[in-house]
Amino acid sequence: MKEIIIKNKQNYFKEHYPFAEIPKLTDKKLCIHCDNIITVGDFKVFKDEEGEEYICCPNAPNCDGTVIDWFRLDNPELPQDTNH
Ligand SMILES: [Zn+2]
Repeated sequence: MKEIIIKNKQNYFKEHYPFAEIPKLTDKKLCIHCDNIITVGDFKVFKDEEGEEYICCPNAPNCDGTVIDWFRLDNPELPQDTNH
């Protein structure tokens, strides 16, 4: 896997983000692979031999999590102790 440097990250999300709801680059999410809260805009992109591009955890290559491993911090399925 080879890292690709993305110049316009918001634009990259528009074209490559796998889910309908595109997060802001300033959003925070929980990466369940490294168990860290990450800033979405710090994502890295890696390309494999077939030319497939993967949106990866900012902690890559130490973390092998990708965009599908990021959970919303306000996910109602996770335990919450804040009221808002
Ligand atoms: Zn991670």
